[in-house]
Order: sequence, then structure tokens, then C-alpha cells
Amino acid sequence: MSATTAAGAAYLVAALLFVLSLAGLSRHETARAGNRFGMAGMALALAATVGLAARDLETVAIALIVAAMGAGAAIGLWRAGRVAMTGMPELIALLHSFVGLAAVLVGWNGYLAVEGAPAGEAELLDLPVGIHSAEVGIGVFIGAVTFTGSIVAFLKLSARIRSNPLMLPGRNALNLGAVAAFAVLTVVFVVEPSLPVLAALTVLALALGWHLVASIGGGDMPVVVSMLNSYSGWAAAASGFLLDNDLLIITGALVGSSGAYLSYVMCQAMNRSFLSVIAGGFGTEGGSVAATEDGEYAEVTADEVAALLRDAESVVITPGYGMAVAHAQGPVAELTRKLTEAGVQVRFGIHPVAGRLPGHMNVLLAEAKVPYDIVLEMDEINDDFAKTSVVLVIGANDTVNPAATEDPASPIAGMPVLTVWEAEHVVVLKRSMSTGYAGVQNPLFFKENTRMLFGDARERVEDVLKAL
Ligand code: NDP
Repeated sequence: MSATTAAGAAYLVAALLFVLSLAGLSRHETARAGNRFGMAGMALALAATVGLAARDLETVAIALIVAAMGAGAAIGLWRAGRVAMTGMPELIALLHSFVGLAAVLVGWNGYLAVEGAPAGEAELLDLPVGIHSAEVGIGVFIGAVTFTGSIVAFLKLSARIRSNPLMLPGRNALNLGAVAAFAVLTVVFVVEPSLPVLAALTVLALALGWHLVASIGGGDMPVVVSMLNSYSGWAAAASGFLLDNDLLIITGALVGSSGAYLSYVMCQAMNRSFLSVIAGGFGTEGGSVAATEDGEYAEVTADEVAALLRDAESVVITPGYGMAVAHAQGPVAELTRKLTEAGVQVRFGIHPVAGRLPGHMNVLLAEAKVPYDIVLEMDEINDDFAKTSVVLVIGANDTVNPAATEDPASPIAGMPVLTVWEAEHVVVLKRSMSTGYAGVQNPLFFKENTRMLFGDARERVEDVLKAL
């Protein structure tokens, strides 16, 4: 068997492993197996690619590749080992920027090795030069948009820059104009490939990526992260065409389409039109803003909450970002066990965008060994709130905000929320009256059946546990 055939076979197996990985990741119970399939596929793909390339390379080049892979793996392991669950979205955004940058570099390298090389030194192609030039233009464009877009997302998510939307006048016209200019530049580049045109195309795409994400506000950032995930997939697929690597095309297409589908599902969960999120300018300022609306709210003590829970028939816990920040999942799981033993029905209601990335809450609860079958999605639990004795809102805010359904003027109007206020009693655990990520006031806190238990979620849940 020739090395090319062996590599082709390895690519096929790796592609199947990636498909199995995606299938596994779609359910909690199989997510670990899914991850392992992904790792095995990637190891196989890397080994086959480097093995195939090594045939034509000098020892120094092979040593450089191995050293680069070793350094990359060490940095990756170090970062992934240290990152807190709350820092995951920004890490993912940063990783997407690497995919974008790689696609830009692959595109530029393609140009320098073919169209831009001195006549005698140009690499031989088995396709018309025009097609190669189009691949270069498109690959560089998608890569550059992904690169700067991901950098802005990283800066916003890590609060290094403000997360309010940049509202330039005529921003939609700017975006459309940039796409039209890209089409023109690509045609010019295909007809007459030249360095200045490629440079102009790159700068245009870098600016467009920056502008696209800068004009998206805090509330819509979850969709942006998954959208950039999709872009990074298409950037990788574009590189696959340039490098003539089938596996990269398949993998890129898998990432690109699954990211696009996830963005679509999230847009539905937030009642946003996909196009308006991409066009930007919708979300409001992120971060904690002082409450603007004054109202009467009632406080409660941990002892009183324990008494409420003891007398309850059914309890629903709706966790949010604050549970993650406070690392309260352990005590929450303990509370669940205690109440279940005492004959109280305990379930969890998870909003699709609770926390700072999709599935954030599910991961934390699974880590704390909360059984999967009592962790329900928003649609599965929403009809049951009216029959629930006590709802514990633990560090959640936007996802339980009645303004989304009651106030058409609210920035989150129309976003589906957990209708916790329909329960007999609602206890909200948070540190203060300040707002959540979307920066909007929450009328839930002022409802008659709501009680506030202020303080760090972990400490307060531990207090309730002690009182029980
Ligand atoms: P929110 O950000 O709306 O609210 C979290 C609340 O937790 C805050 O109001 C805060 O109040 C409280 N909190 C913070 N720290 C603690 C602590 N140590 N102990 C107790 N409470 C604490 O979170 P939700 O999960 O309800 O909503 C998610 C929001 O994040 C949505 O707006 C969503 O669009 C957005 N988002 C979602 C992403 C996703 O993919 N899931 C990604 C990015 C953003 P206080 O300061 O008073 O304690």
C-alpha cells in the first residue's frame, strides 16, 4: 500500500471518528465517549498528515514540525487545565482566532507559492490557476473575518473592552458594502493575481470581522461565539481546498455546519432572528449595572428557606451564571439529595443560554453528580411551574426575567424565559439587586411571591443545608 493510500484510509477513519464524536456530544450520557472519539480522530489525522508530508521533507523541517506540535500541545494542555468553566467562552473565542489566522497564512502561502512565485519556482498545480486564486481569495477572506471577529469576542467576553454594541451610522450598508467590495476584489484577483489586491482583500476582511462582532451587544454574545465557531469551520474547509486535503474539508464542513445549526437553535432560544444577530446592534450593555427601577422587595433568611423547603411537595432549581461563579454546584447537589431523601420532588430547569456558554449548567450539575433525569430543559419544565411549591433561583437573572414576556419595550422582549414566577414561592439567591448580563432590570425580584436571599450562592446554600 502506498503512503498516499494509507493516508487516505487514515483520513476516512478520522472523518468517521469526527462524525461519531459529534453524535456522542449531543447527549450528556455519551459526551465523554464523544470527546474520546474526537481526540482519537485528531491524533490519527495529525499522524497521517505529518507522516505523509515527512516523505518529501528534510530532517530539519520534520524536527521543526514536531517541536511546534509539542509546544502547541503543552500550551494547550496548560491552558485547558487551568481555565475555569466561566472562562470557557473566551478561551473558545481565542482558539477560533487561531483557526482564522491559520487560514489567512495558508492563503498567503498559497499565493506566494503559486501566483506570486518567480516563473521557474512556482508550484505545479493540477487545477487551473484561476480556481487556485479564487480559493486563495475566499480562504483569506473567511479566515481574516474569523480572526478579528474572534479577537473582539475574546476582548468583550473577558471584559477587556466594553461589551455594548458599536453603533456606527449605516452599519448594515457598511457590512454589505464590504461584502460587495470583497466580491469585486476577488474577481480582480482571479483575473490578475497581485500582492496589492490580496493585501487590500485581507485588510478589508480584517476590518469587516472587527466591525461585525463589535456591533453585537452583550446579550447576543452566546450566538456570536457559536457563529464564530461556524466561521472557523468554513475557514478550515477553505484551507483544505488550498492544501488539497480532503480531511480538512470534511472536518471544516462538519464544524461549519454544526456551528451554524447551533447558532440557529440559540437564536430561537433567545427569540432573535439569525440575520439581525449577524448584522449586529441588538444586544445591550453587558455587566452588572445598578438597578434603575425602585420597588419593594422582601428578604428572607436561610432558616426560613429551609422551612419552606421542608414543607414543599415539589421544588424546582433554576441555576444561572452566579452558580458557576460561586462554585455552588456541590452544595446544590447535596441539597438535592437531602430533599429527595425527605420525600420532596426536586428537579432542575435549565434555560438554553443559562450561564456563559451553551450547556454550561448541565456540565456543572453533571460534575456534581446530579442525576441526568431530573435535569430538564426549559420547554420540559415551563408548564410545571404553576404546580411547583418552591422555585430556587440560584445566581440566575436574565433567564428568569418576566419582562421578556410582559414588557414589549424591554431589550430582551420576546426571549423565552423560565416562568418561575408562576410557582407558589420563589426564592432568589444572589448577592445584590444588580442586573444580569443583559443589563436589564428584573421585575421578578419585586413580585409578591418572591423572596431574596442575598449573599454568595455557595455560602447561602450551605446555610440552608445546615438549617435543614
Ligand atoms: P445572568 O448574567 O443574567 O445573571 C447572573 C446573576 O448571578 C447576576 O445577576 C448576579 O447577581 C448573580 N451572581 C453573580 N455572582 C454570584 C455569586 N457569587 N453568588 C450568587 N449570585 C451571583 O445569568 P443567567 O445565567 O440567568 O443568564 C445568562 C445571560 O448570559 C443571558 O443574558 C445570556 O444571553 C448571556 N450569555 C449567555 C451565553 C450562553 O451561551 N449561555 C454566553 C454569553 C452570555 P449579583 O451581582 O447581584 O450577585
